[in-house]
Amino acid sequence: MSRRKRIYEGKVKVLYEGPEPGTLVQYFKDDATAFNARKRGVITGKGVLNNRISEYLMTRLGEIGVPTHFIRRLNMREQLVREVEIIPLEVVVRNVAAGTFAERFGLAEGTALPRSIIEYYYKNDELTSPMVSEEHITAFGWATPQDLDEIMSLALRINDFLSGLFLGVGIRLVDLKIEFGRLWNGDDMRIVLADEITPDSCRLWDIKTNEKLDKDRFRRDLGKVAEAYQEVARRLGIMPEAGPADLKGPTVMQ
Ligand code: C5P
Repeated sequence: MSRRKRIYEGKVKVLYEGPEPGTLVQYFKDDATAFNARKRGVITGKGVLNNRISEYLMTRLGEIGVPTHFIRRLNMREQLVREVEIIPLEVVVRNVAAGTFAERFGLAEGTALPRSIIEYYYKNDELTSPMVSEEHITAFGWATPQDLDEIMSLALRINDFLSGLFLGVGIRLVDLKIEFGRLWNGDDMRIVLADEITPDSCRLWDIKTNEKLDKDRFRRDLGKVAEAYQEVARRLGIMPEAGPADLKGPTVMQ
């Protein structure tokens, strides 16, 4: 088998050239980082679970007409996605105060917000992804005002749909971070959901106990990190067939 071309290696994922033009293979690692990579670790089995969870959520979103980069899962740790031009924004939608938002406004974590609030961060590791306004985004040309209208309406739709989906399995979607890309077809351009939606990129709390079922367990050294990701997969009904024993998945690439 020929060696695939590595297009990009991020903190928790690797992108390889796909089998057809316009496609990429997205590989999920077990690595975990937090606080702009100042904290690093490995959560055994996370890549397998995140591959499965992102597949599930993007498929459900696709079914209600949200365009996504997802094509299909290939194996335990890889999925085939469309190659898009990533818009350099981390779009955060918040329903409940937590994390940096709770700190910034002096709110107790868990305070419900009067409505969902969208924030934008410029995706740049060296600058530790500063928060930006629509003014910065359009002035620097990261997205046009029309792009931003589309991004905002998609972000709210994604948040509403996922809030309901998670509520159905006893989980509160506290906040989430999503990324978008431009998908070109000749001169036509569509903005599509890209990257991943997983417990790495969302805050998920048990509806009854407020127990954290997301990356905050790693960030805050709360323990039982892998178990929390497994619990999310279990509630969504997508725990890998053989259960936790099956989670290591292949670690050797080609
Ligand atoms: O840390 P903060 O409260 O700003 O995070 C808001 C949401 O965005 C959380 O769900 C967090 O997991 C996610 N996030 C992310 N990647 C980042 C920053 C935040 O997925 N670089």
